Formats: sequence, structure tokens, C-alpha cells
Amino acid sequence: MIAAHFFDGHDARLQPVGLDVRNHHLHVDAPGFARSYPLADVVLAEPFEQAPLVLRVGDATCEVPYGPERQALLAALGYRRSAVERWQARWPAALAALVLLLALLGAGFVWGVPAAAEFIAARLPASVDSRLGQAALAGLEAHGMMAPSRLSDDRIADVEALLPKALPAHPRVPVRLLVRSSDTLGANALALPDGTIIVTDAMVRLALDKRNELDDIGQAELLGVIGHEVGHIERRHATRALTGSSLTAAVSATLFGDFSAVAAGLPAVLTQMQYSRAMELEADDYAIGVLRRNGMEPDSLADLLTDLESQHPEQTSVPRWLRRSAAYLSTHPDTAERIRRLRASP
Ligand SMILES: [Zn+2]
Repeated sequence: MIAAHFFDGHDARLQPVGLDVRNHHLHVDAPGFARSYPLADVVLAEPFEQAPLVLRVGDATCEVPYGPERQALLAALGYRRSAVERWQARWPAALAALVLLLALLGAGFVWGVPAAAEFIAARLPASVDSRLGQAALAGLEAHGMMAPSRLSDDRIADVEALLPKALPAHPRVPVRLLVRSSDTLGANALALPDGTIIVTDAMVRLALDKRNELDDIGQAELLGVIGHEVGHIERRHATRALTGSSLTAAVSATLFGDFSAVAAGLPAVLTQMQYSRAMELEADDYAIGVLRRNGMEPDSLADLLTDLESQHPEQTSVPRWLRRSAAYLSTHPDTAERIRRLRASP
């Protein structure tokens, strides 16, 4: 007899019983109480170390407290551990399973999420781009990151005149160019999903000559910058990057449970526009094409990037973390590689 707890499945009362296995039957006995069940009807839950053993027969349940008699009962029931149970009891197998799970999760984030993001982005209607662009611009203005340009009308006109030279014969979306003053963004240029390109005053000033005019060299530099941003727009990078990061946040939230991360991540992505390295290089290739078409050298964009890198933005009153996160070089990573590529372009 093996001591056990019996629940008949109809009320919560615990009945102390003795168990016995004889003649292919499980016998459950207590004073004034006797039942027997064919072993074929007895379902044994997976036995766990240090946990009571659970047997189910129809509605009824027997719990056998953890103890030395348990092994005898398992033997009498003809229990054999399944392959999966044997694996999970062996730490090398458990470790291998953990490694495999992490590898699958990693692969899902590295390849699965971007592939899914591309799939989704390709199916998003153009109205999404325009709404995202408007939201981003409104966000930048609301956070005081954008103010009207302080450059002269002539200089602004000079910059605006460069846009048609950077556009393809048939632009994917109507493109417009805004010159804006921004202490936060410093010398910067960004392409919003709706086809709005913002070039900051500081970026224009970087290209001006000593007499504060936009000479041929400065024009080539800015055309490189604008061409790069048109490349982002033509290839729809902003929407694709945004879809990818939103999806990553949504998948992380689903797996790890913090849904606020999705909501919290969106504005940051909108204003920072972190593109992947591949997107940056693709936009540079586009800029190279624009410069060549206009009889200019890609070196001009490389020169501007070199100037940007050597620039010290410490003069601004913006906190360092924000400056770092908003700087053109941090939103446009791998600058050294980009400069090398631009200079090497045939
Ligand atoms: Zn870029």
C-alpha cells in the first residue's frame, strides 16, 4: 500500500487512501471506501523531481507525495520515461536546446523581422508615408527642434535651386525641400517619409565660402547631401526603417511583455531616423549618381562629411546625450566607410 491523496473530481475534499497495483488494476482503498480501475484507464502525468506524482482516472485524481514509494509505484505502473523526458533531464541536451532557442530568436530578429518589415512596408499605402512625414515634422516643430531659417532669402533660394538637379525624371513622390534653423540638430539633413527634405542652416553654412556665398564647391557639397536624402526618399528608407523598428519593438513586447516599449519607441524613431548601414550606402550611391549626372565629383560629399567629422559641436547649449543622438553623424553611421567609398567611386 502506498499512501496517497484522492480527489473524486466532484468536490474539493481530500481523501487519504492507500494505492496498490494488482492484476492489471489500480486499487484505491480507504476505510469504507474501495475502488479499482483498469491500468489502461490510468493516466500518469509527467513525473517531476520533488513533486507529487499525479494519476488521473476519469474525473478522479490521485496525488502521491514525493517519497521512496514513488519509484515502486512507477515500476508497478510500467512507467518508462519518454525520449523528451530523458533529454530534459540531461544538462548537455537542455543546454543545447537553450542555445538552439536563442539562436532561433536571434535569427528571427536578424533576418525574420527585417524580411517581415519589408513585406509589410511594401504593402503600406502611400497615405501612410504622408501621414508619417507630417507627424514627424509636427513632432520636430512641437519639440522646438525646428525654427524658420535665419539665412538670407538669396541663400535659401540657392539651396532650393539644387533640388530639381537631384530629382529623378519621375520621382516616386512629390519632393519638397525646407531649410530650417535647428540648434538641436546642428549641421544636419533629413528625409521624412512623405518626401520632405529638411536641410538645416548649419549644414548650409558649412558649404558656404568665406564670403558667405554658395560657390561651385559648396553647391556640389549640398547637392551631394540633397542627393543622398532624395535617395532615401526614392528607396522609401524612412518607412522601411520605421516598419522594421516598430516590428522589432512589437515582437520584443510580445516576447518580453513590455508593450509600452512600442509606444515609447515610435517618436524617437520618427525624429532620429536610424537607417541601416545598407540604406546609407544605397543613398550614397544615389547621391553619386546625382553628382555625376550634374558633372560633379562624389569627392565633394566626402569633403563635407570630413568637415562634419572634424567639427566640434560643443558650442551649442544642447545636452550632450541629445546632441549625440541627434547629430548628423550618429543618424548617418559609418561615416569613415562612407567617405572611403565616395572617394573610391570610379
Ligand atoms: Zn542618410
